[in-house]
Amino acid sequence: MPGLSPMAEPHQTLDIVAPFFNEAQSAAAFAALLDQLEKAVSRRFGMTVHKILIDDGSRDDSAERFAQVLSGSWEIVRLSRNFGKEVAVLAGLDQSRGDMVLIMDSDLQHSMDISLRMITELVEDPGIDVVYAQNDRREASWRRSQMARLFYSLINSSQRFDIPENAGDFRVMRGTVARALTSLRDKRRFNKGLFAWAGFHQKAIPYSPEDRVSGTSKWSRLNLIAFSLEGFTSFSVIPLRLISLSGLLAALAGAIYGAKVFFEVLFYGIAVPGYPSLLVAVVLLGGLNLTLLGLIGEYVWVTLSESKDRPVYIVRDVVRSGASDKPAPGTRRT
Ligand code: UDP
Ligand code: MG
Repeated sequence: MPGLSPMAEPHQTLDIVAPFFNEAQSAAAFAALLDQLEKAVSRRFGMTVHKILIDDGSRDDSAERFAQVLSGSWEIVRLSRNFGKEVAVLAGLDQSRGDMVLIMDSDLQHSMDISLRMITELVEDPGIDVVYAQNDRREASWRRSQMARLFYSLINSSQRFDIPENAGDFRVMRGTVARALTSLRDKRRFNKGLFAWAGFHQKAIPYSPEDRVSGTSKWSRLNLIAFSLEGFTSFSVIPLRLISLSGLLAALAGAIYGAKVFFEVLFYGIAVPGYPSLLVAVVLLGGLNLTLLGLIGEYVWVTLSESKDRPVYIVRDVVRSGASDKPAPGTRRT
């Protein structure tokens, strides 16, 4: 028996999961990076590497480009349409069987050095299950980092698990963790939250993402706001509590003001000053009511999406190194 240390087990396998969406221009460079990483991993740790790329409904010829330039053992899982990166990552994890799984972007923003450092940490310390890269946000504006801080402190309040700040999908985990993650079948996925929810022993290492070599980020400001809301509706009841609290405070203020008016009329005979105050109260409370309704609507919408028995994504086909495997159209994974 080789002992319990994962270092002691020979021929460990590493799966690299990388989603892509319209990244034809990065294909060659990313394939080269994967090659380099594979060589380093096999030289240092004797690990075998398998690459799992997920074509998240690219509208260009990304998949063909990747198929031309990838080498070694690989597969490209082509989804039936664009499902979003969060879902694409799940599709990759579903395919993975490795002892370790590395998730990285295919736009070259996630470097080989950091990947290798994370893998090294995981190989060398059997006490750790996950090593994730934490963006040090050196490039972010002050306003943006304050917003991020506020977001994390809100979403992490009264939670049994903490979603670490600025930690994304760029991470290495043991196979057990990857399998645990595939058991979380949320349809509206907020990976940062799911990674945290799953637990295990996690370790952060700081990094600054590389600049994008080509194309643009698929995240607009509006996307980011919607995504943050997704985080709340998936993981936090805090917004509902805050709104309930503000409703309570408004009611309290109304009651105090009412009492004041009542006593003024009773003891001093002062007539209540008319419409302006009334209008303010009506508009304020009306606005508050609508906001609350909208927010409840968000949570109801999430509940509705989760309760529909749809699969999280649909696979169009899988192209593999050496062979092509085309399941019957409409084959689905749930
Ligand atoms: N991506 C994806 N599906 C999408 C959007 C993005 O698979 O709907 C991929 C994209 O090709 C890249 C990674 O996810 O490999 C990160 O996307 P992006 O660079 O747009 O995000 P950012 O780096 O700005 O966070
Ligand atoms: Mg990127």
